[in-house]
Amino acid sequence: MSVDAVRLSDAELDAAAARLEDASPEAIVRWAADTFAPRLGFATGFGVEGCVIVDLVATLALPVDIFTLDTGLLFPETYALWQRLEARYGVTIRGVRPAQTVEQQAATHGDALWRRDPDACCALRKVAPLAAEAAKLDAWITAIRRDQTPERATARVVERDARHGIVKVNPLVRWTTADVWRHVLARDIPYNPLHDQGYPSIGCAPCTGPVAEGEDPRAGRWRGQAKTECGLHAPTSAAPISIRPHAPSSAGDPS
Ligand code: SF4
Repeated sequence: MSVDAVRLSDAELDAAAARLEDASPEAIVRWAADTFAPRLGFATGFGVEGCVIVDLVATLALPVDIFTLDTGLLFPETYALWQRLEARYGVTIRGVRPAQTVEQQAATHGDALWRRDPDACCALRKVAPLAAEAAKLDAWITAIRRDQTPERATARVVERDARHGIVKVNPLVRWTTADVWRHVLARDIPYNPLHDQGYPSIGCAPCTGPVAEGEDPRAGRWRGQAKTECGLHAPTSAAPISIRPHAPSSAGDPS
């Protein structure tokens, strides 16, 4: 059975953003579910903020389609976290995969496309699959926070995702890095152990390395290349980043 799409006008979005600006993350995700389910998704890259959202959605038993872009190139620790979250919360985190396997892509475009043309690789393995998912939704929840990047500083609780033509709901937008880690530790929410090993921002294994103390949290992504974003979230979102203040090094999140 098809479900009618929910289309909010700009005025309705503005009103919702104003009304929810001071609301708790719980209230915000409940509003999102009441307004958009079942055409409401959450794409997690298994960053620490994403784990907070999974905990929230699962604990409140909200009808949200949780999925991840499985490029086939994630760290073993990330695949293990995926399983831990599903087991802990009894949810399914759907794997969305590119049209080609890594091997098929190598046959078509040559080995290790990520080294020669990471934009093309991200377009094939992340951007196109995400766009296909967005086309099935009216809104998605993101884990972005205002203090992550200058571009995100003006993000609202509810806003239009111009790139994908749907609504973005940002329940953690007011939280700081410290807020996130306080919450994660207090609730014993599973997170990627790589965050405790110098990986503030975790993406595909070939394109992610550790960062030194004091370096930009995203310095380990596509190190040595001009690329800084995978192209999923322009212009107002992107891979949530965070630094765990009390960890041996730092922590971060997905794209
Ligand atoms: S992050 Fe690297 S390996 Fe992953 S899709 Fe982008 S370029 Fe390819």
